[in-house]
Amino acid sequence: MRTSAGSRFGSGRVWAGLLASVLLGGCTSSGDGTEDPGPPTSGPPDRRGFVIRFEEPAVADRDGAAFLRERKVMETVTATLDAFVRMDRQVTVVGRSCAGEGSAYDPDRLRIDVCYDEVAEERGLFERAGRGRADDDVAAVLVETLYHEAGHALVDVVRPTLTDRAEEDAADRFAALMLLRQGPDGERLLRSAAEEYRLAAAEGDPAAGGADEHSPDLVRAANHVCFLYGSAPERNLDLANSPLLSPARAAGCAAEWTHVRDAWTADLAPVLR
Ligand SMILES: [Zn+2]
Repeated sequence: MRTSAGSRFGSGRVWAGLLASVLLGGCTSSGDGTEDPGPPTSGPPDRRGFVIRFEEPAVADRDGAAFLRERKVMETVTATLDAFVRMDRQVTVVGRSCAGEGSAYDPDRLRIDVCYDEVAEERGLFERAGRGRADDDVAAVLVETLYHEAGHALVDVVRPTLTDRAEEDAADRFAALMLLRQGPDGERLLRSAAEEYRLAAAEGDPAAGGADEHSPDLVRAANHVCFLYGSAPERNLDLANSPLLSPARAAGCAAEWTHVRDAWTADLAPVLR
């Protein structure tokens, strides 16, 4: 779920966005992403980078698990990450029933949990806000969540000295970076993610008060809105007048986003492909 519910590196209640291609759904590979594409031609297989695995869902999470696979959330995000950065280690991304613990990154096991139960939680949040079945919003939130958790894994590699709150903010910014570098498709996903934080705050999510290591939900929503507007003002002009942004901040979002993007890019330089 969006609130971290005590997990050290929980995403907070995360949101995510999916690529348009992912949003189309379609058949899903039953593989766990770790298989070799064919007989090795030389040497051992490369086990670095992001690999995925699916656990059997709890009965209550079967629909959520099916949705996650149908939308290829884990497949698409990990493929995008592996094309972007060259990890010096293997990070396993596991789809599983989390019983409400929330998606999280475990730095000791180098593992990201993506929780089937969050599908129903996010769907409920959007539906209560009158957004219909909201499949695309839900998928977007899951994508952004996974990028946030991957941001923790990247922080471990390139900025291991960050404090908890700074790391959470950096993970949010990494998610924004990964989505905004995809252009309009990624912007749509980040919009859903920002809206999810706003809705969660409106519902009185405990994390909205900044009770855990994450910034409050409204702050996280405002940051993403600012990044969206700052990265492409012409496409996101409506956000200039968002109640989440003061006029003064809105005027500085282009510079703010440039700084955020350049800072993360500089940190990633040693691992960029
Ligand atoms: Zn986090």
